[in-house]
Amino acid sequence: MSDERTVYVTAADEAQAADLARALLARGLIACANLLPGMRSLYLWPLRSPIEPAAQRAFVRELAADLGYDFGRGRLDDAVHPFCQAVGAGDVRITTRYDRTWLPMALFGTVHEAGHAMYEQGIRDEDRRTPLGSYASLGVHESQSRLWENHVARGRPFWEGRYPALRAAFPDAFADVPLDRFVAAVNRLAPSLIRVEADELTYPFHVLLRYDLEVALIDGSLRPSELPEAWNAGMRDALGIEPPDDRRGCLQDVHWSMGAFGYFPTYLLGTMMAAQLWRAAERALPDLDAQLRTGAFAPLLGWLRTNVHEHGARLEPDELLRRATGAPLGADAYLAHLGAKVDAYYGPSAASRA
Ligand SMILES: [Zn+2]
Repeated sequence: MSDERTVYVTAADEAQAADLARALLARGLIACANLLPGMRSLYLWPLRSPIEPAAQRAFVRELAADLGYDFGRGRLDDAVHPFCQAVGAGDVRITTRYDRTWLPMALFGTVHEAGHAMYEQGIRDEDRRTPLGSYASLGVHESQSRLWENHVARGRPFWEGRYPALRAAFPDAFADVPLDRFVAAVNRLAPSLIRVEADELTYPFHVLLRYDLEVALIDGSLRPSELPEAWNAGMRDALGIEPPDDRRGCLQDVHWSMGAFGYFPTYLLGTMMAAQLWRAAERALPDLDAQLRTGAFAPLLGWLRTNVHEHGARLEPDELLRRATGAPLGADAYLAHLGAKVDAYYGPSAASRA
């Protein structure tokens, strides 16, 4: 039996591979290194294909503009954490971040923040610089980001229209990936550690756990020193996974460090509102799927302008929802949306188990 072992690794480029090989040779850890430049890799996970941030930046910038984000009254910049900030009337800026081997980070991060920004860009001019020239609630704000992210940009009609442009922008990554596989990949449901990267089914568990823990912190039944273990236990119970460290556990979000207790539920309330608004928009715009297929986003944005944005802070959230959807906030549309998603990508039997 031979003692030889062959180890195969990938590197970002040939220079990095050569550095690695030289370092291992110098330490006597390997006898031989073969560099295979120009090798083309095809991935089972198309979204893990490497794409330079500069190329991603150009793509998401064009996408945000096409959705309706007005660059004449805003900017898109890089930041460690994506956010939307209204600097002043008519100046609503957004940021996103880029991972070379995880396109969804920039793609859905940008769509999400553009959704927030289009809300504030849609507030009526005469209300600006007054208390009415604001948003109805943080939950309603989140409904606008979630609607564009989950209901538009994770939907098949949207990608039927946009996928050719994505393929053209990133041919090495997607030339051999059929549309159906791409759409399934961006809708993959799997337990994960980071809230802002979580799929639609995992996401609410992050928020529910946050809420339980912040209630326990406030009523004194949980000490801050017990938080890491309580978080890890909650993740084990809810999702069957355990963070390897607190950075990917209870410390992943900044909210509690700045005193923003009670903030997390707005994410889930907004996600529920998004589903209810989406259902109403589908009723009001019978050609919505066809419009998304052709990249005509103006009718949907117009509906949101009329039913949400232009009200600013004039209406309480429940009244706003009642007028826009015919009902106060409920879970029906959200649960139906999640069930349909599980059915579509994992089969009806999976939905009945979920
Ligand atoms: Zn948001």
